[in-house]
Amino acid sequence: MSHCKDCKKELLNDEIAIYKRLINRGAEEFMCIDCLAKYMEVEPDDIKEKIVHFKKIGCTLFG
Ligand SMILES: [Zn+2]
Repeated sequence: MSHCKDCKKELLNDEIAIYKRLINRGAEEFMCIDCLAKYMEVEPDDIKEKIVHFKKIGCTLFG
């Protein structure tokens, strides 16, 4: 089980996938949606919308 590298929260598969999609496909450490939103200077809802979007277009990172 992976944990957010900032706040140590347990990560969902979607959080790992969106981090890979947006930040670094080869990453071995990830961030939760809240920390990723802060890092990217967007709202957590913006990240959630991106997750929905990438799932809809069939991105293979999202299982
Ligand atoms: Zn976090």
